[in-house]
Amino acid sequence: MTPRRFINLFPKKYIFKKLVNYGLFKLSYMLNLKKLIYLPVTMDIEPTTGCNFRCTMCQVSSPDFHSKNMELETFKKIIRENIQLIKIKLQGMGEPLVNKHLFEMIKYAKEYGIGTEIISNGSLLNEKNINFLLDNKLSKLTISIDGSSKKTFEKIRIKSNFETVINNAKLFSNLTKKKIFRPEFSAWCTVQKENYHEVEEIAALCKSIGFDNLTFQVHLTGWGKDEWNKINEEKKIEYKNLEIKKRFKDIINNYSQKNFTIDVFENNLLNFKKKCSWPINSSYLASTGDVVPCCIIGDPKVINYGNIKTQSFKEIWNSKAYYKLRDNIENNQIDDFCKNCYREYTH
Ligand code: SF4
Ligand code: SF4
Repeated sequence: MTPRRFINLFPKKYIFKKLVNYGLFKLSYMLNLKKLIYLPVTMDIEPTTGCNFRCTMCQVSSPDFHSKNMELETFKKIIRENIQLIKIKLQGMGEPLVNKHLFEMIKYAKEYGIGTEIISNGSLLNEKNINFLLDNKLSKLTISIDGSSKKTFEKIRIKSNFETVINNAKLFSNLTKKKIFRPEFSAWCTVQKENYHEVEEIAALCKSIGFDNLTFQVHLTGWGKDEWNKINEEKKIEYKNLEIKKRFKDIINNYSQKNFTIDVFENNLLNFKKKCSWPINSSYLASTGDVVPCCIIGDPKVINYGNIKTQSFKEIWNSKAYYKLRDNIENNQIDDFCKNCYREYTH
């Protein structure tokens, strides 16, 4: 366990409430209780759906996708009603740094002893905001690296500038390198036909920048939407192909080292025996304040269980509709919007 994770797991404030909630969660899980006697342990909160990029595999690039920043008051209400949280991931369908309140959000979460994590496209980082993140004990920063060459990167990440992202990632790496306690620094690559030819070079680039780890996401999601399922179905690589699997295995063997690890992530690892745990231990709060089951859906138009602006989170968490989703997962009566996560429907 790295020192930075150690900090994140042992927040100083509201520790008793967090431990009790976590204990109740574990107990309910062990006893297979039907009624939840706890609130989520972690949460994803979407600061914005606005983005300065238009990546080809992302629903933010749809012409009818609206950009919306989460209001600071909405964020504060979520936190005040969920001080049991251990960690939040500030991410969603947009670039978190687009919301000018992001830094106040991180500071506010810290006041409640909640660790924060950001997934960013890396374009808006600078020395000032990196230092703010470090001062406010960010626990993890992930930057998307979808190409090792300018041509590939910018072909996928439309409106991006390869050099800016790489230089910002290097800046973060340099500013944190000498610190004993620092955020985990991760790279994420969404593998698709357009960048598959560069996967070795992407691993080499991420290693040279100083990331702690790199994840290759080999399955593209459609966010429960037919139109995006279709677009991304055409882009995805056939990971089940043995040669492709071997190529990733070789990359892991050749590029991993003690301070740089590589993983392969498949969304659809779920099946009728290994069920989805999102609705029982986490939740996704969209920028509108709507409560969505997970980040795989992300868009409240697909499914949501209520809005934090007009209801309490506890009321939504315990709503009949949320319980129905949990029951459906438990009984393998998988909702249409969940089918993309299950091997039984995707293979
Ligand atoms: S940077 Fe992220 S949120 Fe923005 S378009 Fe690309 S994948 Fe979507
Ligand atoms: S199975 Fe459903 S709730 Fe679970 S991650 Fe997939 S879409 Fe979300």
